[in-house]
Amino acid sequence: MSSKWRGTQAAKGTVCKTVIRRFESAPRLIPGQFVTIRCGTGTEPLLRRPFAVHRVNREEKSFEILYEIKGEGTRFLSQYEEADDLDILGPLGNGFKIDLNIKNAILVAGGIGIAPLTFLAEELVKEKINVTLILGSKTKLDIPLSAIGYKLLICTEDGSEGTKGLATDLLNEFVRAQNFAPLQIYACGPKAMLKAVAQITNCQVSLEEIMACGVGACLGCAVKTKDGYKMVCKDGPVFNSEDIIW
Ligand SMILES: Cc1cc2nc3c(=O)[nH]c(=O)nc-3n(C[C@H](O)[C@H](O)[C@H](O)COP(=O)(O)OP(=O)(O)OC[C@H]3O[C@@H](n4cnc5c(N)ncnc54)[C@H](O)[C@@H]3O)c2cc1C
Repeated sequence: MSSKWRGTQAAKGTVCKTVIRRFESAPRLIPGQFVTIRCGTGTEPLLRRPFAVHRVNREEKSFEILYEIKGEGTRFLSQYEEADDLDILGPLGNGFKIDLNIKNAILVAGGIGIAPLTFLAEELVKEKINVTLILGSKTKLDIPLSAIGYKLLICTEDGSEGTKGLATDLLNEFVRAQNFAPLQIYACGPKAMLKAVAQITNCQVSLEEIMACGVGACLGCAVKTKDGYKMVCKDGPVFNSEDIIW
């Protein structure tokens, strides 16, 4: 056991990173997958909380999660800088599909939606695919970012960082500049942004619904698709945008 504590609880809205060590399944994690974590020492909060895999170190059998403090569970987690004694279930869900024949990819993140897209960007770069990651948010985010081997474009609605405007404005420009050449497009963020991205182009979207069991048993995270209701935890969280009834 070598968990490292930050010692203090961060305020609501703060973005934190926790490294999960000694995770035997780390080498087989794929981008878009998630884990659920028991975020407390007693019975409260009762339900595990889901978090996307943000970054992986396969050799060290560790991975990172990046999360925004919302309530009790994330506040508990924020006390850990590193952890190897948390109760974690995973890897869960189906990840993003990568087409090795298409050499350009564009990733669209809304706020903390950048968490799984960082892992995806790093895997695409390993496959020698050119990656542009657009990060959009309402205002300047305090997120530790390091884009290695790919292009990161930041935009904010209030212009406090990067280009002033929406991530979808940049996506539109980018798609046009590419002259509609084949692109792999991926998105993660608030549902309204995903819907707007899906209206521009077909893409793979990672959905976040409030979920209870995380393994397809409780049917709590159902989304409506052209093929009936699907579970975000078991059938997703990654879906083809054209399959979702927005
Ligand atoms: C597949 C999946 C992957 C996720 N990955 C990440 C991630 O990488 N980083 C991250 O910061 N968050 C992620 N989330 C959201 C994260 O699970 C919630 O923010 C977290 O469970 C909140 O727990 P809490 O106890 O702190 O807050 P709670 O007290 O449970 O809730 C506080 C507020 O957050 C809202 N909330 C709770 N769960 C969700 C949810 N699933 N989606 C949206 N709003 C929610 C509640 O409605 C409430 O308003 C993911 C969710 C899913 C389904």
